[in-house]
Amino acid sequence: NAPAKPPVRNYDMNELKKLDMAHHLPAQSDYKLQHELGGSRIITRADGVFITDAEGKSLLDGMAGLWCVNVGYGREELARVAYEQMLELPYYNTFFKTATPPPVKLAAKIAEKMALSNPDLTHVFFNSSGSEANDTIFRLVRYYWELKGEPERTVFISRKNAYHGSTVAGASLGGMTFMHAQGGLPIPGIEHVEQPYHFGEGFGEDEEAFATRVANSIEERILAVGPEKVAAFIGEPVQGAGGVIIPPASYWPKVEAICRKYGILLICDEVICGFGRLGHWFGHQHYGIKPDLIAMAKGMSSGYLPISAVGVSKKIVDVLLEKGGDFVHGYTYSGHPTCAAVSLANIGIMENEGLIERTRDVTGPYLAKALKRLDSHPLVGEARSLGLIGAVEIVSEKGTNKRFKGAEGTAGPIVRDLCIKNGLMVRGIRDSIVMCPPLIITEAEIDQIVDTIEKSLNEAEPVLRAL
Ligand code: PMP
Repeated sequence: NAPAKPPVRNYDMNELKKLDMAHHLPAQSDYKLQHELGGSRIITRADGVFITDAEGKSLLDGMAGLWCVNVGYGREELARVAYEQMLELPYYNTFFKTATPPPVKLAAKIAEKMALSNPDLTHVFFNSSGSEANDTIFRLVRYYWELKGEPERTVFISRKNAYHGSTVAGASLGGMTFMHAQGGLPIPGIEHVEQPYHFGEGFGEDEEAFATRVANSIEERILAVGPEKVAAFIGEPVQGAGGVIIPPASYWPKVEAICRKYGILLICDEVICGFGRLGHWFGHQHYGIKPDLIAMAKGMSSGYLPISAVGVSKKIVDVLLEKGGDFVHGYTYSGHPTCAAVSLANIGIMENEGLIERTRDVTGPYLAKALKRLDSHPLVGEARSLGLIGAVEIVSEKGTNKRFKGAEGTAGPIVRDLCIKNGLMVRGIRDSIVMCPPLIITEAEIDQIVDTIEKSLNEAEPVLRAL
């Protein structure tokens, strides 16, 4: 008995916008701009890969919400699972020797997926968000080294322009200097090295030589800090918020070899890349490496409810088991039964519909081919993708990576606004347009994304050239 579709509710747009400005501080926002624009864009409903705003305008959601709605919108099955779990046991905690069925089953299911690349990844710690997952990693890694008798191993190496969340540890691990500028970050003990951004920072350089150079920046920093002080290296398999930065194929194996050489833990932040985005359950599986810890969130529940996890390898768990004592870390909502039940059902949908394989074999390659059409556009410096995540670099001079003078860093948002006008939700990051659609997207909808970006680039060209 499928529940009926919810009724279409009519909202008073003006009223909502007024309340938004009077009482609401939206996340990661410029509040002055929120007021200048007369309030936020209000999204009221969604189905499949389409979202609808309060004015009734429909947009193809080329961002899967915020890189998360992997199974698409309107999944009644997920609503039903949440409803049933809430009636049976809406909440109970996992503190003090207690657990509930959904997180236990979910941990086993995630271990099965992690074992595809690394059977040593046996255990899972739950949180509610990607930032919290990275905070857990930060404390767990330092605690591990302390228990192992190497308490001086405290330093984390991360990359410039990485995104690992917006909590204190998350933003510090991240490499975004404009985030560090607020709140006196990063906290001590975090080092940032070169990112594998070939188009932006290795333009014209042989890709393999570039991969070696940026991977070597990790080794150089390890040696500068002192290898005995380094706890871990953390990186997103493909950097998402930094602008969909897809490293050269040999980068990750080189990074892994450096970590092994110095006995440093390798952490993959899979918050965006996990759950099918790159055509594998986890992004690192595309690169053939074996991380010791994984942060995951977003696609874990396709954003239907907030849940995240840290995948932990046996060698770390063994030390915790051997030494005993509380790991004095955890959240009220660690292992939330309703969120975990929805996550399990979400993984079930991915399995039943073959969404991972479809992304790897059908839609991922289709997106890559469709983006090739943009290669000849005068504003396009590079159009790249892997699985169902991609970026289009906007340049002022074809064949270079030069940006529009005086408007550097703004071309992305200008083209993005035109995409929205033309019915496509994408994101503008500095001078690029990025996309990350739901994994249920069809070939025709992928064409719609690429055609809309092309149309919007055409409309943007005279505006950008006049700047
Ligand atoms: N890590 C990565 C790689 C992310 O992309 C994000 C969110 N975009 C986070 C961590 C933080 O997740 P959250 O916003 O759920 O805290």
